[in-house]
Amino acid sequence: MPNSPSKPPVYRFAPSPNGALHLGHALSALLNADFASATGGRLLLRLEDIDRARCRLEFEQAIFEDLDWLGISFEAPVRRQSEHFADYETALDRLRSRGLVYPAFLTRGEIRAHVADIEAGGSTWPRDPDGAPLYPGPERTWDIRQREDAVAAAAATGRPYAWRLDMQKACNTIDRLLTWRETGTRPQGGTDNPESTAGTVEARPEAWGDVILSRPDAPSSYHLSVTVDDALQGVTHVVRGQDLYHATAVHRLLQTLLDLPEPVYHHHRLILGPDGRKLSKSHRDTGLAALRERGLSAADVRALVL
Ligand code: GLU
Repeated sequence: MPNSPSKPPVYRFAPSPNGALHLGHALSALLNADFASATGGRLLLRLEDIDRARCRLEFEQAIFEDLDWLGISFEAPVRRQSEHFADYETALDRLRSRGLVYPAFLTRGEIRAHVADIEAGGSTWPRDPDGAPLYPGPERTWDIRQREDAVAAAAATGRPYAWRLDMQKACNTIDRLLTWRETGTRPQGGTDNPESTAGTVEARPEAWGDVILSRPDAPSSYHLSVTVDDALQGVTHVVRGQDLYHATAVHRLLQTLLDLPEPVYHHHRLILGPDGRKLSKSHRDTGLAALRERGLSAADVRALVL
């Protein structure tokens, strides 16, 4: 959906407060801030804290300190996803009422065992772009009655289950090619979307299989909440790391199913550590606070990443 020309573009930086921000986050935050200031746009901060077990207040506080140190300011109020579970539930209900989600009961161990079984027989089980096996989905063929009975039994016994998108069924409801507008770059080394650099990218959500939209320990998944929030916050431009490039296909599918507007996407390079791997939040020595303590200035960080 084209953006109204009279409205300023809306950018957002959306970290998860589950660890210390590192140089990769600095790049994301600075790019968002620079794009917003160059275009007269708005800049929002969203704390993606749906994973209550891993997110902590001290990390949230550190995010504010790091961004302040970098000289980046955001519009108030900051959106905390944990305060908006009802919004994600509403979206999930819409998908549920269209029969596009189903309750899924296999545990991680059961999925692994199923895949090992098949692969022991010489076949290869499909993996998603992050390398995880696709969900086998034995429940996909259950009728409404079986689903309701299974959910009621699970509620009575406390057996955990997730709500998953029926990917094939969802894709079948869409009668046109699903694409997104990309102004950044695709990750190196991928095998899909071979024609895509900058421009229009063909979205292939099928590669992810039946993604989780809600789990017992997190009432909304990353895919669902990011899609709902970008729409609710009027985000027009999503600027984020290339590690989320392929996930954009799922976001475009959910936007289409839920009649939400389509932002423009800009995926930026990832900053790698000395070992050539993506920086991780658990490596405190590459965190922004650690760099600050070692005497680096915000200008040094800008020069390092941009
Ligand atoms: N919360 C995600 C992260 O910290 C970023 C989500 C996004 O930008 O879409 O990796």
